[in-house]
Amino acid sequence: MECRFSSLIVDQFPCLSDNYGFLLHDTRTGLTATVDTPQHTAITERLTERGWSLDIILNTHWHFDHTGGNLALKKHFGCEIIGPEAEGDRIPGRDRAIKDGDRLTFGESPVEVIGTPGHTKGHVIFYFPEEGIAFVGDTLFSLGCGRLFEGDPAQMWQSLSRLRALPEDTVLFCAHEYSAANARFALSLGLDNSALTARAAAIFAARDRDEPTVPIKLGDEKAANPFLRADDPALAAAIGCPNAAPAEVFGEVRARKDRF
Ligand SMILES: [Zn+2]
Repeated sequence: MECRFSSLIVDQFPCLSDNYGFLLHDTRTGLTATVDTPQHTAITERLTERGWSLDIILNTHWHFDHTGGNLALKKHFGCEIIGPEAEGDRIPGRDRAIKDGDRLTFGESPVEVIGTPGHTKGHVIFYFPEEGIAFVGDTLFSLGCGRLFEGDPAQMWQSLSRLRALPEDTVLFCAHEYSAANARFALSLGLDNSALTARAAAIFAARDRDEPTVPIKLGDEKAANPFLRADDPALAAAIGCPNAAPAEVFGEVRARKDRF
């Protein structure tokens, strides 16, 4: 599936059981990057189909379904591997360490690195302000968010709050097709939220047709995703914690999802 954003093409395709692979191609310079490397064979096949070489790997975090193809792709293409400083040598073959606040350039497009610790301690997202797109890895999913493997609820809530502050029409590429399971959980919270009901119905219909539900729009997530609404008094009330702080509400919702 291809999306075009001014001079960037994003090619999205399934990898492994429920990951997405993403190729970014700059039509001005001919440069190509991949965000994460879930499966080097699928990525190489897609590059061949498109007639593109691979210049850059951008890693969001160290998990194997995001970095497992790094070394094979580097060996084949000689590409540069850019990944979070805080994840040290857990990013295989990393050439360049990045951290929150860093500014990169891909082709002629500026890229802002935003640290979003919580799922892992060094997780970063890549925001392309000129194109209005962001690659959010396992920080945010459609109607969901990443599990807290290395962070606590307060840290993840802060990370999601920063993501939430991006412009409403930002297009978000998340790394997994988890939307239907997330929708079932979000509906189980018993919220009176018509945006959520409508989104869930659209997700179930798309999955019945075997269509991807990624990418997503930040504005749509802000309206419907309970993990972006932990400061909504209606959510706090729905889970029986009417006076809890947003980070506590977030933590309770995340814990319920873990058990769902
Ligand atoms: Zn992960």
